Amino acid sequence: MQRNHDVIVIGSGVGGGTVARRLAENGINVLVLERGDWVPREADNWSVSSVFHEKKYTAHDSWLDGEGRAFRPNIYYNVGGCTKFYGGSLIRFREKDFGVLEHEEGISPAWPISYADIEPYYCEAESIFDVHGDDNGDPSAPWRSRPYPSPKLVSEPLVQRMADRMRHLGASTSALPEGIDFGPGGKCIRCRTCDGFPCKLGAKSDAETALIQPALATGRVELATNCYVERLLLSADGKRVDGVEVKRNGQVEILQADVVVVACGAINSTALLLRSACDSAPDGVANGSGVVGRNYMAHNQTALMGLAFEENDTVFQKTLALNQYYFGDADYRFPLGHAQMLGKLQGGMLSANVPFLPKAVGSTMARHSMDWIAFSEDLPDPENRVVLRDGKIQLGIKRNNLKPHHRLVKKLTSLLKKSGYPIVLVKPLIRHSTSHQCGTVKFGVDPTTSAIDPYCRSHQHENLFVIDASFMPSSAAVNPALTIVAQALRATDHMLKRDFGTPSQHSA
Ligand SMILES: Cc1cc2nc3c(=O)[nH]c(=O)nc-3n(C[C@H](O)[C@H](O)[C@H](O)COP(=O)(O)OP(=O)(O)OC[C@H]3O[C@@H](n4cnc5c(N)ncnc54)[C@H](O)[C@@H]3O)c2cc1C
Ligand code: SF4
Repeated sequence: MQRNHDVIVIGSGVGGGTVARRLAENGINVLVLERGDWVPREADNWSVSSVFHEKKYTAHDSWLDGEGRAFRPNIYYNVGGCTKFYGGSLIRFREKDFGVLEHEEGISPAWPISYADIEPYYCEAESIFDVHGDDNGDPSAPWRSRPYPSPKLVSEPLVQRMADRMRHLGASTSALPEGIDFGPGGKCIRCRTCDGFPCKLGAKSDAETALIQPALATGRVELATNCYVERLLLSADGKRVDGVEVKRNGQVEILQADVVVVACGAINSTALLLRSACDSAPDGVANGSGVVGRNYMAHNQTALMGLAFEENDTVFQKTLALNQYYFGDADYRFPLGHAQMLGKLQGGMLSANVPFLPKAVGSTMARHSMDWIAFSEDLPDPENRVVLRDGKIQLGIKRNNLKPHHRLVKKLTSLLKKSGYPIVLVKPLIRHSTSHQCGTVKFGVDPTTSAIDPYCRSHQHENLFVIDASFMPSSAAVNPALTIVAQALRATDHMLKRDFGTPSQHSA
């Protein structure tokens, strides 16, 4: 057994990266185990054909859906996890998302923490990721104790004209908070290939640039890439994680540390906990309550293209959000959700997703479109779950709470039509959508109904934390990454104090 570090963090995404950086900056030695490798900075980063057609950077996993059919998930195994390819929208959950919210098809449950508990960490997370924002025009925006660290990204003329037209129709848009290194001295050139692509210039605030690189710079973090964690090994009494079984270069090694943090993403963390079942944890590690893998959520999502006769010459399109209907509308008392602009769609991206669409048609459409995505909350259902079947990940899901989502899509369609986009194409992104995966290792105060406590520590194993998107008991209706970072900071400060007797020097 090798024991050279205080903490082992499994996974280098926003969950694991935040923990590693925070611990290292407070004097703790950390080993980060990452199954993937660095994403090289190369021309293919910004090639539609490499990223969308060849799927050069997408994981080569094969998972099963609820009916047992194999599919290739849209997931990324590399340093920085999914954020290397994300859109960089870093938006806070709304204050009411932390309480019970009544939806048309059920209840979104309360979190064991309030917005006030996490608000200082949201401020820190925004600062770490250099979020550009401005809440003007967003009626659902939660209160904030600090302004955004950077000014909003100004919309290009056609996007601004659409926002003005929507405002005249009574719909208030606002700046979409974005984490990019833009402005005087910044590396970002506001290109077309941001949302869905890795940044060739390292200008996107992702888990590699904002977390792993600074963590490594402390000299207290070792990052082991191409290092797959197969299992957690429990002590004889089952109360602690005693070892981490790793496969590296065809060899199996057992590594040890005082504290182990699982941060593999909601689905892979579940798989690791379930794979680690043993005599003292027959249903999987941290799974005495039986909730591990259950309550999978990923948002109800639909992409919309508003088509006009004039060409859309916008380069960086992802600057606008629509939150006016987040908690409902004049004629509808339940939450509808959120919409935001997509990065500018390109012809090749359409033909990659719609197999029979001729390339030329896709390119013409993309040249004339304004592109949006709508998110609505999906509700936790214990039967929507991740399980292992013959060692393979199986994702069995039945979508719920679709009615408000359809209303939101209808609303946005009508707004787009009245704003000068007479044809609106709509594509639900429902099947196998894992981009906003969360909820499978939920946190809570009751060990019979949750797997981890409000600081993400396992109820059953005192030196085990699970810190990634899996802790969320509800999905809200905005992108998850900023909330993962904020909770990871909060949980790590608790760990520093409780497990290492070191109050964080960077406490929020
Ligand atoms: C295309 C796309 C666009 C998105 N856009 C946005 C956006 O604009 N804003 C936003 O907030 N969110 C966005 N998201 C969602 C966001 O990226 C995720 O919520 C977030 O990255 C999840 O972070 P995580 O740390 O939970 O997991 P991940 O990012 O999945 O990180 C987990 C890491 O663990 C590693 N790992 C997994 N299993 C093992 C193992 N057994 N051993 C060792 N390592 C392992 C993986 O390789 C990975 O690096 C987007 C997602 C996608 C896919
Ligand atoms: S828009 Fe900026 S951050 Fe995004 S990929 Fe282009 S250069 Fe990088």
